[in-house]
Formats: sequence, structure tokens, C-alpha cells
Amino acid sequence: MSYDHQPERAFGFHTRAVHAGARPEPGTGARAFPIYQTSSYVFEDPESAAAYFNLQEYGNTYSRIMNPTVASLEERLANLEGGIGAVAFASGLAAQSSALFTMLVPGDHIVASAALYGGTVTQLKHLARKLSVGLTFVDPDATANWRDAVREETRLLFAETIGNPGGNILDIEAVAAVAHDAGVPLMVDNTFATPYLCRPMEWGADIVVHSLTKFLGGHGTSIGGAVVDSGEFDWSNGKFSVVADPSPAYHGLAFHETFGNYGYLMKLRAETLRDLGGALGPQNAFLFMQGIETLPLRMERHVGNALAIGQWLSAREDVEAVRHPGLPGSPYAGLVARYLPKGAGAVFCFDLDGGREAGQEFIRGVQLFSHLANVGDAKSLIIHPASTTHRQLGDDELAAAGIGPGTIRLSIGIEDVEDLIWDLEGGFARIGREVA
Ligand SMILES: *Cc1c(COP(=O)(O)O)cnc(C)c1O
Repeated sequence: MSYDHQPERAFGFHTRAVHAGARPEPGTGARAFPIYQTSSYVFEDPESAAAYFNLQEYGNTYSRIMNPTVASLEERLANLEGGIGAVAFASGLAAQSSALFTMLVPGDHIVASAALYGGTVTQLKHLARKLSVGLTFVDPDATANWRDAVREETRLLFAETIGNPGGNILDIEAVAAVAHDAGVPLMVDNTFATPYLCRPMEWGADIVVHSLTKFLGGHGTSIGGAVVDSGEFDWSNGKFSVVADPSPAYHGLAFHETFGNYGYLMKLRAETLRDLGGALGPQNAFLFMQGIETLPLRMERHVGNALAIGQWLSAREDVEAVRHPGLPGSPYAGLVARYLPKGAGAVFCFDLDGGREAGQEFIRGVQLFSHLANVGDAKSLIIHPASTTHRQLGDDELAAAGIGPGTIRLSIGIEDVEDLIWDLEGGFARIGREVA
């Protein structure tokens, strides 16, 4: 932004979190960006209607593919991640499946980190079967694993900035280099870090996906997702005919040739969102916009509280391990210093000695922590995977997933940290352990 009397100014993250994508509404002067609760839009005349449907001009047609409130959120997310644009979806998983559907065809192959959100592992396996796409999971910690898994048919590398449940930190720059040597994009799920803690595109990631449901929304009120594109990947390198060649699903439009850097995003919206239909509603987009206004403030507090609790737990004899990547001695300390200098997130696991029974009882002993299957709320959350999300698994299968019988997962909120520690003491007291 610039004024006649001043040089151009690049605004800071806090300013952009509040202002990007939302100007006062010119018609009414409304300062909060309005919720455009409408399914459709009146065309000015038949010619402009035709131009919109031909993608020759950009104009609102139908809220399955575009809505001003949702567009405002998309602009804010693209701005904060440093991308050229974004498309929002009804959930994080809708964003991921749509991102994949837009670029893959049967016979392609994906290399994915094995340390992913459980819902994503299930989704990738299911989509790979349905789309006849090959899928290889790798231990994400060694760059060589990624390189070894790449094949001639590989079309995508996929990982999370901060993985599950071990808090694996991705060496984004190294894995992006493997992807680019193979002529394919690196897609990063940045949900646990948010663009406040890390912007994967600055390290070479080509596409960033988000579950807005978590820290970005921040209050556990709405489900949503987004795909952000860096605009840097060359879809015309011969490997992505589905993006580069004339599309039979859009009367022969060649998306990459016609829209250049915006080709992938245009195809994602005009074809995939149109056909799969996982559109975000304007009311939820408004709630996400509000959440993002306080993202930097909340994240500071989330990471500070989480680190303090991680340290407190580490000092206890009856805690076998605290898997917080920001703690001293973490195998990820070097990667945290590089990619997450403001903090290594606020979701982590610790291993209680005493097995399944101790884990389950511990949960009964807490009051402030909510026992539920979500992360990234302003409120602190707790779950015992072995008796809930992973209860069908035997101890060996649990171990393969990196979860012990006594593993507890915490998502640390923004309450007073002394109160959270008091509450966890209640958990220890419940299983007959000493309280300081
Ligand atoms: C929750 C989550 C998702 C899925 O998002 P939904 O909004 O629940 O569909 C994907 N990745 C990560 C890391 C998540 O935490």
C-alpha cells in the first residue's frame, strides 16, 4: 500500500492479520466485513454473464464457487502465507482432497510423510484406492527417505510442518529440493504451525493446505479449510497434462496457458470446487476472519503456555517422555531454531507410566482441559489416544503409530498457565501420584 506523500510500505504480520482482505464496505460503510448470505448474484447484462461463465471476466455467479465474504478470507490467508491466492473449502479434508483431485490422474504416485494427522492418513489411503494412485509413506525425518521413495510416476510430496504424534519438524527446504529435482510440487499442511509460526513457501513449498478449524479459527466454532498456492510451480514441465492441457471438463480451456501462475488455482475453483462442491459458507468465513485478527496474539500465548507445561511435565519422574519439539534436547531442536523460531506449536504428547488404565484415569482427573478430539482451540484440550481415537489398535499397532498405551495428547490453550498446571496435577492425583 502507498500514499502520494509516502513511500510504499510493507505491513507487518499483526497489521495484515487484522486488515488483509477486508476494506470498509463502500455501500454502507460497515467496518466489519459483511456476511454476504446469498447463493447467487444478479448479472449486469447478458454479455457480462457470458464472460463470467467463460472465465473471461472475473465476477460473482454462484456461491458454490465464489462469495465475497469467502473471497475476503481467501485474500487474507494468501497474504499471510505469502501465496498468490487461495481457495477456501468446507473443511480441511475437503481442501486436501480437492487439491489432490485437481492435479492427479490414475497411475500417478504420491510420497507422503508417515507422521500425519490420522484423518489425512485415512483420506490418502482411500483416495489412492479410488483414484488408482500409488502411495508411499516415509519416515519424514531423513531427507534420503524422500529421495529414495520418488519414482518416475511420482507427482507430489506431502508432509506437515509439525507432524503427529511425535512433533516431527519437517526439513522443508531439503524436502522441497527433492520435490523440485523430481519436477513435482511439495504440498505442506501448515495447520499446526499457522503462518504466524512458519511460512513453508518461504522455504520452497509450492502449495500450503490448512484446516481452518484449528488455530486459524481459534475458537472451536467452525469447520473449514483452504489451499494456498505460491504460484511458483511450473505446471507446464510435461508432468502435469491434467493442469496444462485443454480441459474437457471446461470446454477445452488450457488452464496453465490461459491463466499462467493462476492456472492451478483457477482449475481448483472453476472445475474441482464446482464439481466436488465442498464450498465454505459465508457465516463460517466471517468467523474465521474474526479468529485470524487475533491469531498472532493467541499463538504467542499458546506456544508460551505449551512450552511451560512441557518443561513442567519433563521434570516429573513418573512421566516417561514429553514429545514437545521445542524442549531442550529434542531431536528437532535444530529444525525448530530454523523453521519455527517463534515457537514449536502447542500440540504435543507425553507418555505416562502405568499404561492404558493410568491414561484413561488421568483424563477423569482434569476439569479445565476438555476431553475431546480436536486441537487448536483457545480452550485447552486433552485426549488419551489408546482408549479413544486409536482404541481398535493392539499395543504393537499403537507402537507403530508412535503412540504408547499411556500416551496423552494435549492441545494447550490460552488460559493462565498456573491454572492449567493445577488442573494437570488433578490428573496425577487421580492416579495416585504425588502432587508437588
Ligand atoms: C484437523 C486437521 C485436518 C483436517 O481438517 P478438518 O477441518 O477437520 O477437515 C488436517 N490436518 C491437520 C493437521 C488437522 O489438524
